[in-house]
Amino acid sequence: MKEFDVIIVGAGIAGLGVAGLLQKAGLKTLLLEKSKTPGGRSKTKEVPGGWKIDTGIHAVDGGDKSAVAELLRKVGKTIKWSRPIEGNKLFDGSKWMTMEQYFNFSDAEKKMLGELENKFANMTEAEIDKLDSVSLTDYIKENITSPKVAEFFQVTGMVQSTLINADEISMGELIYIYREDMRHRSAGNNMGNARMPVGGIGVLTGTQAAAVTELGGQIEFGTPVEKVELGRNSFIIKAGNNEYQTKKVVLALPIWNMASLISDPSGLLPKGWLDRMKSLHDTTSCSMGYTMGLNKPLFTEPVYLSAWRVPGLGLPLQILGHTNFDETMAPPGHMIAFIGTPCTPTQCRDEKFRKASLAKFWEVLGVMFPGFEETVVWKFDGFLVGIDGLARSPGLTGKLRPPVFMKEVPGLYFAGDCYTGRGVGMNAASNSAMICAGKILADLQHQPSH
Ligand SMILES: Cc1cc2nc3c(=O)[nH]c(=O)nc-3n(C[C@H](O)[C@H](O)[C@H](O)COP(=O)(O)OP(=O)(O)OC[C@H]3O[C@@H](n4cnc5c(N)ncnc54)[C@H](O)[C@@H]3O)c2cc1C
Repeated sequence: MKEFDVIIVGAGIAGLGVAGLLQKAGLKTLLLEKSKTPGGRSKTKEVPGGWKIDTGIHAVDGGDKSAVAELLRKVGKTIKWSRPIEGNKLFDGSKWMTMEQYFNFSDAEKKMLGELENKFANMTEAEIDKLDSVSLTDYIKENITSPKVAEFFQVTGMVQSTLINADEISMGELIYIYREDMRHRSAGNNMGNARMPVGGIGVLTGTQAAAVTELGGQIEFGTPVEKVELGRNSFIIKAGNNEYQTKKVVLALPIWNMASLISDPSGLLPKGWLDRMKSLHDTTSCSMGYTMGLNKPLFTEPVYLSAWRVPGLGLPLQILGHTNFDETMAPPGHMIAFIGTPCTPTQCRDEKFRKASLAKFWEVLGVMFPGFEETVVWKFDGFLVGIDGLARSPGLTGKLRPPVFMKEVPGLYFAGDCYTGRGVGMNAASNSAMICAGKILADLQHQPSH
């Protein structure tokens, strides 16, 4: 039987990233993935007729300057990035307008926003860490006297975090993402240069998978892991008829997939740890909406469209015309658009609520884009609990996130957008992969037998 230095479970951005970094550092890795293809939540499906459909909006904050791109460069790879998202337009109930037109700030409000941006730009990591347990609502109460500037941050927080209530948005994380966006902004672009990989998000994860195998790593697709049995410095991984033994294992899985796999016959886990992980299952962002193929663009501007609250519904709306940034995703002249709303897990699972909401969106789309129904070639609706890892909520960001290792169980590591690592989904997953691989390599240096 082959021996591996590290076995990684899950071939999403994080698992592929950890495997690539460890192979590059000279270790021997095995990656086990239940699906037949790499990518996890970041995949692209090719559909006959020239359509390529991503698993929902997959905009990478910072594009070629992001943690996602950095992780790829570390394994010797680059990809082509689409045109950047050039800003955010809002719907006021009757028409679309730029953020500037929508808020129409007075000079005093512009000054207040400028001062806040300056403060955020100069914040140290330690100052940001301190705000991880403070909600946007509480920060506004203490620091923002203008209702319009407060609303600006509520909209920004919603777009960043897919959370609809300012009480549920962590100020530490909001400032971290906002500060990164400011670093990557070009003139007049408030979206921080977010871009998509040309050809879809699957190009990114496909390139990561190619890097792993080119560096000598082994990936077993179609291999669902059923159990990870914890032992002292040794783990047994059960997947179908196969059983693997290893001294180091990385669970590169979201918390809702991870907790149920672990078995702890020797009682190594700290008391209450598994229960806490299970209690976090629903602390995640959710969305419902439509993916559509159209025979002509709904709009052509390279911007992100949002409605703070859909009239008559009380939920936000977000629209990305993918083909306005990367025309390779659809036949010439056609558009792929993602139209959805962030919502809570309870709303997402409530079929009656979902049906009523989707019907309302359809009606509102008719007001936003009169006559659009005639241009629809195909459409499907869907909903998802578990978009962007753990919610970016007070008490669950920065150093307060579950760590990538556990000192009580040496050799057990975690990676992905639910664990330590800042930024929106894919950047969080990439950051955590780099932190996790760094920790494994550092631990190995302290083990003379290796
Ligand atoms: C609709 C949607 C839209 C999104 N939009 C954005 C966006 O615009 N910007 C952004 O930054 N992020 C976005 N995200 C979030 C982003 O996709 C995730 O943050 C990122 O892909 C997480 O990567 P990961 O490696 O941490 O986890 P995952 O991609 O979930 O990878 C985990 C892997 O583990 C595998 N696995 C699970 N259980 C087992 C098992 N028992 N055995 C073996 N393998 C197993 C899974 O199949 C999967 O491949 C979006 C997500 C969705 C769903």
